[in-house]
Amino acid sequence: MDQRDLRYNCHDCGVLEGQLHEWECPEEPCPFCGQPREVVICECRRKYIDPAVMRTLDSLILEDDEGYDEVSGKVSEMWKEICEKKGRFPFVWYPRVCARCGEVWPYTFYDPEWNQYIAPDHRRDILCFDCYLVIKTSAVYERCLGQDMDKEQAEAMAVQRFNETVKTDSAINDHIKERRAEWESIAGSQTKPTLPDHGQGT
Ligand SMILES: [Zn+2]
Ligand SMILES: [Zn+2]
Ligand SMILES: [Zn+2]
Repeated sequence: MDQRDLRYNCHDCGVLEGQLHEWECPEEPCPFCGQPREVVICECRRKYIDPAVMRTLDSLILEDDEGYDEVSGKVSEMWKEICEKKGRFPFVWYPRVCARCGEVWPYTFYDPEWNQYIAPDHRRDILCFDCYLVIKTSAVYERCLGQDMDKEQAEAMAVQRFNETVKTDSAINDHIKERRAEWESIAGSQTKPTLPDHGQGT
């Protein structure tokens, strides 16, 4: 069966794609600002709900404050009506995809040097870790060549940075081992540095 014919369920409230989330499902986007998730607590409420009611809710901060349930229930009903008038978004399941290679649900990671290698118009993209390593180590390699290092020295620098990047997250090491074979075919080309074997010395 074609992936596109499948209808997924919201993992939170369970509705099918195309259906509205159960009201107060934290996965529903706000119909006013489009902010993903948590329509129920979106600050947009404050623009449309009677400020006096919101002030009352704000004064009842704790959920065990007397009257909290009643007021928050009232706010929720008012907000639901406003959202319905505007038009609520039905549930659609969007997988995360690497912007470079198209891998679906890639391994997610954090690297403090992200902004050094990824230009501003792509910083909000998702990159799989493998693509990111190709970008980063290639950039280091080319930069070193530009600084009059020979190929061997440049490759050593790139390998060092690769190792440092991988070491920031121990889960990455397992991931890297799995992808080692694919890596070697990528790294074998003349224009990219040869990447080290992660199974050793880490
Ligand atoms: Zn839902
Ligand atoms: Zn909003
Ligand atoms: Zn990728």
